[in-house]
Amino acid sequence: MTDQRTGRLYINGNWVDSASGRLLSVHNPANLEVVAEVPDSDERDVDRAVAAACRAFESWRWVNPSVRAGHLHAIGQRIAESERALAESITREMGKPLSEALGEVRKLAKAFHFYAEETTRTFGAIVPNEEDGFTSLVEREPIGVVAAISPWNYPLELIGWKLAASLGAGCTIVVKPSEYTPTSAIELFGCLAATDLPAGVANLVTGAGETGRALVAHPAVNKVAFTGSSDTGAAIVKTVSGVKPMSMELGGNCPMIVTEHADLTGAVNGALRRSFRNAGQICIAINRVYVHASRYEAFVQRLASAAEDLVVADGLVKEDADMGPVANAEILQKVERHVDDARAKGARVLCGGRRPAGLESGYFYAPTVLADCTQDMLVMHEETFGPVLGVAAYRSLDEAVELANSTPAGLAAYVYTENLTATFALGRRLDFGNVAVNNVDAGIINAPYGGRKGSGYGYEHGREGLDGYLQLKHLRIRHGA
Ligand code: NAD
Repeated sequence: MTDQRTGRLYINGNWVDSASGRLLSVHNPANLEVVAEVPDSDERDVDRAVAAACRAFESWRWVNPSVRAGHLHAIGQRIAESERALAESITREMGKPLSEALGEVRKLAKAFHFYAEETTRTFGAIVPNEEDGFTSLVEREPIGVVAAISPWNYPLELIGWKLAASLGAGCTIVVKPSEYTPTSAIELFGCLAATDLPAGVANLVTGAGETGRALVAHPAVNKVAFTGSSDTGAAIVKTVSGVKPMSMELGGNCPMIVTEHADLTGAVNGALRRSFRNAGQICIAINRVYVHASRYEAFVQRLASAAEDLVVADGLVKEDADMGPVANAEILQKVERHVDDARAKGARVLCGGRRPAGLESGYFYAPTVLADCTQDMLVMHEETFGPVLGVAAYRSLDEAVELANSTPAGLAAYVYTENLTATFALGRRLDFGNVAVNNVDAGIINAPYGGRKGSGYGYEHGREGLDGYLQLKHLRIRHGA
């Protein structure tokens, strides 16, 4: 629930007004009503936030990791106590059903507890020296001030992974959420403000791309942690001042391969979940499925029939709906463009392919399965980021691997097979940062999660997620002993 904090920034431990005087409206995509108005922060706001983070870093970096862990546990606890308000703010501003939003908030709390534990295990090393009387220590130190820029599809988790890991590492942070989803970020910072986290350690500026650009261009920022589209990632690389570490979690265009030995029920359920959850607006959503010709028709018919049964509704009214609206008008237009393109090039529309009747008030689109797709169709090589799935038949595993690897995306791939040789062959030959076999949950909190090729670099989750905010120091001591 947005409250009196709406319209203010969180800088140096206080809710403050923006210097810009400009406001951005946030809309509910289920009915297009205005949910809130938040500051469109300018360079002066960004400068204040970065200055606060710089000051706080000088003390936060030396705070004992066990004390930092206590702060992270307290934030995780506070998030759990506020889960309903946090989840409602997500659903209201980007449309995912409340039950899914609650799931996101619970995973957010878990991330804070996970990094609370990890921060107490930032081990270094003792390295043997050739000469007596010397000891070499390898220590891990926080990088400094982090600029965190996030998208709208998992508005809290994608902030939370950066926030929890950077604070755990001893960094301080300035967060710029998506202009579509600032209210959940404001709620989250309300949780932080209710703990005794020292002033300036975590700061929030709201705004659109220009605010993000000012933040990544700020010379006092030491690391940029970005999640968003590949185009914006490429723009940020050109904008940063000087040379500094960056993590780039970018767009996907994820394939699934169903082999002749697959459990078809598992494959259909997997495709259904990973294509239409969050209305397909997941970087690791399945965009395209390659099915062995011998199982192809059975697969597409069963998938289309299951997709037809999904319940599409306003997720605040029907909390356990399968799908809400897509988040904004641009996504809806892209979905329509991809479906029109596939239709024009000969795809069979087995279900969906239209806006659902009775839901014209918002950005709703019916779950869509397109059969007989070819690689030249947009849906097969460009990230749709909506509830649309293209399916094509293949004849040999070599062909399936070639098709799966043929786009610039390298985030996640999925395989359904009961054959051990195919499991290892595909697991190794698919050129993606995450490959899930006989399941579609490629990201778990204690394993590294990241892309390759056009999907970026760097890792979130796991110990590697913390390592991204640490730098090594070789400390060589001549002690004479
Ligand atoms: P986007 O790139 O349009 O925006 C992301 C963020 O960048 C927003 O906060 C935006 O205001 C900011 N921004 C825009 N221009 C900027 C600039 N020049 N400098 C600095 N910041 C700028 O992405 P989106 O539409 O919000 O999110 C969808 C995309 O995110 C999809 O491509 C999806 O695959 C990707 N994504 C990737 C992952 C992953 O882990 N790899 C996770 C979720 C989403």
